[in-house]
Amino acid sequence: MPELPELEAFVIAQRGALTAEPIESVPIAHFATMKTIDPPLGSLAGQRFTSVGRRAKRLLFTADGGDTLMVHLMSAGKLVVGGKRTKSSMLVVAFPSGRDLIMSETGHKRRAGVWLLGPDALAAELDHLGPEPLDPSYTVDVLAASLTARPHKLHAFLRDQRAVAGIGRAFANEILWAALLSPYQRSAALADGDVEKLHAAITGTLGAAVERLVPLSGSGLTTKADRGYAVHDRLAEPCPRCGDAIRRVSFDEHTVFYCPTCQTGGRVLADRRLSRLLRE
Ligand SMILES: [Zn+2]
Repeated sequence: MPELPELEAFVIAQRGALTAEPIESVPIAHFATMKTIDPPLGSLAGQRFTSVGRRAKRLLFTADGGDTLMVHLMSAGKLVVGGKRTKSSMLVVAFPSGRDLIMSETGHKRRAGVWLLGPDALAAELDHLGPEPLDPSYTVDVLAASLTARPHKLHAFLRDQRAVAGIGRAFANEILWAALLSPYQRSAALADGDVEKLHAAITGTLGAAVERLVPLSGSGLTTKADRGYAVHDRLAEPCPRCGDAIRRVSFDEHTVFYCPTCQTGGRVLADRRLSRLLRE
């Protein structure tokens, strides 16, 4: 699933092209993907996107008429600019130059969503989301307040979109490794120094990933984020910091990857799925 860095890199890399010319038409909008019907998508024809932005894991394309096209790619959505339409294209915004914006979704589950919203409806859709971690207003104090307001184990805290916006399973793993903190440490029991370390890891890890991914986003949303991971999806590989083998704990919907030496005082956490398999 694309997270803040991939999406932010897309915004930075594609903003110029997508605001450069008026929209010609919206020739494809799959009924399973469209979440709104009023205003109609066809009303975008002849308008121009004046801003391309992001809030949490949603991309926001605002047209000069005031409506915003909101795209949430969920787990299997892809976004290319200037590519070819395929059978799995769920949304196409066509431009005169042919640099069309194309959202597709692989697999059979239709989870990605597209909305066209006026300003009030947009504000209501975004109302529940927590602070943006790359915004200058995201200070150590803001993080400290949400750590106690939304208490959880740190991995779950980072994935909670109401606590902090735009982070998913992959960057939660990367951030906690960078912070030298256990995925299971309780957010409300963090020492002051650890709050500062976590804040530096959140902003530093996400900021560096955006910088790395912008040059890879020239033809759309990059799918190459995994090439830069330190621990995520790297089971049994050596930790880049200490050389210990990366371990994991598997859940139905996500997997926690961590380095025991760097993050849990050398303790290997029980992998419930593995121990269940061994019992059977
Ligand atoms: Zn390590």
